[in-house]
Amino acid sequence: MIPAEFSYHRPSTLDEVISLLSEHGDDAKLLSGGHSLIPAMKMRLNQPGMLIDIGRLSELNGIKKEGDELVIGANSTHASIAHSETIKEHLPIMAEAADLIGDVQVRNRGTIGGSLAHADPSADWPAVMIATNAKIVVKGSKGERSITAEDFFMGFYMTALEETEIITHIKVPVAGKNTKTSYQKFMQPASRFAIVGCAAVVTIKDGKCEDARIAFTGVSDAPFRDTGVEDAIRSKALNTENIEAAATKAAAGQDIVSDHFASEEYRLHLAKVYVRKALSAVAE
Ligand SMILES: Cc1cc2nc3c(=O)[nH]c(=O)nc-3n(C[C@H](O)[C@H](O)[C@H](O)COP(=O)(O)OP(=O)(O)OC[C@H]3O[C@@H](n4cnc5c(N)ncnc54)[C@H](O)[C@@H]3O)c2cc1C
Repeated sequence: MIPAEFSYHRPSTLDEVISLLSEHGDDAKLLSGGHSLIPAMKMRLNQPGMLIDIGRLSELNGIKKEGDELVIGANSTHASIAHSETIKEHLPIMAEAADLIGDVQVRNRGTIGGSLAHADPSADWPAVMIATNAKIVVKGSKGERSITAEDFFMGFYMTALEETEIITHIKVPVAGKNTKTSYQKFMQPASRFAIVGCAAVVTIKDGKCEDARIAFTGVSDAPFRDTGVEDAIRSKALNTENIEAAATKAAAGQDIVSDHFASEEYRLHLAKVYVRKALSAVAE
């Protein structure tokens, strides 16, 4: 449980971080909340030669509304998102999901940027980011780019982030007046990671689902958008019968994970139950 040797740097600007990343490539690792990286280093699953501590970089802080988007700094902790009045008012699904992450200590130290970069297949943010159609803004030696959440998560602990890039902030469209959201998860009782997590963002017009974005985490080896459920509920009244019918489509065609927490069959069952819960919550 003792990590391999590493050097420690705490740059005071984003430009310094990027030049360190460019100089040292995959030997360098960014450190934000440390709640995923430090355990991995202690188990020697990860042995970076250099840690770049970005935890106190003020350029990565802040939660604000700019036009129709929320702009959330990568260093925002899960707790700061759970308690933000701006988030509660404009995108309550993010506060709801943040509040379900880990325990108080994890929520106080862990950051949204760290969670997205780590891309744990059971993490909560990926499903919420895909359902809300968020964009992840990254900066590196070649400049800044913005990646949709759907394109960002590429596989098991794999993202579109390049070695020399850092996530600076996340831009999330605010929920319109007729848009209802819900995040529901069946959690591992000790860590509270999602065995199955489902995020639903649904626009309702005249009692019918005008549009829906549904995303899952925990079900497969990467988070995914479930267009099968979306197509099944779009243009339909959000009643019990239609929600039930749409829920039967959950995770169709996905490679479903089987592990010591839940078999493939049980996870698929949970996916159906949890999308039903999420859609029922938005229908209320
Ligand atoms: C006991 C426990 C329970 C947990 N329960 C849950 C849970 O229920 N749900 C859940 O979703 N998560 C859970 N987590 C994970 C937790 O949310 C982590 O905080 C999060 O996954 C990583 O964030 P961090 O700030 O700690 O990142 P770190 O551990 O510092 O870094 C993680 C990775 O991201 C990289 N990184 C960090 N910041 C950036 C950045 N700005 N740009 C690019 N790369 C970056 C690092 O180099 C590293 O590779 C749990 C963790 C623990 C220890």
